[in-house]
Amino acid sequence: MERVLDTAALLHWPPNRLAGGVCAHSQRQELERLSEARSMLIDAADLDWRSPTPAALEAAKTAAGASGDLARLSDVDVDVLALALSMQAVLVTDDYRLQNTFRHAGGTVEPVVNAASKHVWIWEQRCKGCGATSSLEPDVARSKQGSTGECRICGSPLEVKRRRG
Ligand SMILES: [Zn+2]
Repeated sequence: MERVLDTAALLHWPPNRLAGGVCAHSQRQELERLSEARSMLIDAADLDWRSPTPAALEAAKTAAGASGDLARLSDVDVDVLALALSMQAVLVTDDYRLQNTFRHAGGTVEPVVNAASKHVWIWEQRCKGCGATSSLEPDVARSKQGSTGECRICGSPLEVKRRRG
């Protein structure tokens, strides 16, 4: 399935991941404003630059109006939305309004950032000696460096570690 990439993807993804993605011509100008260096890098990426047809733009505005997002979408956002709608592509975006509009219109959305980086984690303290873990008291959470206390089992210093939640 083809993917339409929003400007955040152009800013953050490595060129090999961008390859084959569809973007609107107006995004190139937006990217030039945001990052000249990135813009030059993108020139070398194998992207498919297109302009939405007037009919596709109308359909995008109708869809965004139906979901209530139209007033807060930029012209570039509407271009991206129009391409994704007319191609029935996957829309890659972290923009809340674009996601909402596109889902509302029956489309499929993918995030720009890695799913892995969306995982939440919790902090815990772990003994450097025996490895016993315990939950962190709210008041010790601020001391990021150094030991947060002594192990109740073996007396070794405790350190703060991240645990995937
Ligand atoms: Zn211990």
